[in-house]
Amino acid sequence: MRLIFTDLDGSLLDHHSYSFAAAVPLLAKLDALAVPVIPITSKTFAEVTALRDQLNNRHPFIVENGAAIYIPSRYFKTQPEHAILENGFWVLRNVPRRAKWQQLLAERAADFGDEFKTFDSLYKDSGAAGVAAVTGLSLKASELANQREHSEPVHWLGSQSRKSTFVYRLIEAGATVLQGGRFLNIGGDVDKGRAMLQLRDLYQRETNSKDCETLAIGDSHNDIAMLEAASSALVIRADKRSPPTLKRSENCYTSQLIGPEGWVEGVSLWLEKSL
Ligand SMILES: [Mg+2]
Repeated sequence: MRLIFTDLDGSLLDHHSYSFAAAVPLLAKLDALAVPVIPITSKTFAEVTALRDQLNNRHPFIVENGAAIYIPSRYFKTQPEHAILENGFWVLRNVPRRAKWQQLLAERAADFGDEFKTFDSLYKDSGAAGVAAVTGLSLKASELANQREHSEPVHWLGSQSRKSTFVYRLIEAGATVLQGGRFLNIGGDVDKGRAMLQLRDLYQRETNSKDCETLAIGDSHNDIAMLEAASSALVIRADKRSPPTLKRSENCYTSQLIGPEGWVEGVSLWLEKSL
């Protein structure tokens, strides 16, 4: 069985317009070939479900960089061990929920009072508009982005040296802290590579075989773990930065084209078995 695990932003979706128009014919072909296309993304459940409808995709998906795996209920013959049923999905969570990280941050508020703002507090103070003002996202996108389940983004307002102390204290308390574009993201130890293999194993159990062929597709640093772990890797070239470099050189291809056009270029090669 063949499986495609794909990053969304900058890979299947255009980095700027979020369009996947270039990939529509190939997505239909993959559907006809019964090759599942599985989104694996930093996006939230709310963001992915909206997109999934547009993509007409009925397969499992992995959110928040591997924090949770969502499988449509009854997609497999039996419910995976440890999965819980939520809104029609079997959900496997790999890290603690957002409330735990919010609690941790609340405990730090006394020492770093006005030096940081959480996404949640921005939202509580001024709704989606408060989040939009800091992220530059649209109101609708801010609304969806705030529906995170496994981490809390923090807008740092203090000095660089105080920020280092803040980050150190959080790590000491068991958090993983990732620097995003504008936010520090406070959450558990997530990994797209591990989550991909977890879901692949469920497919292998379902089909009673050990020969699932995986193609991982991504354009950024946070995709490296899954790109290294898949049977084949497709690195999508980005517009204004160099693509991430992998340790592997076998069954690995970097697209010439950017975004969804590069996605089509690489997936077509993989289908022809030249990748
Ligand atoms: Mg990306």
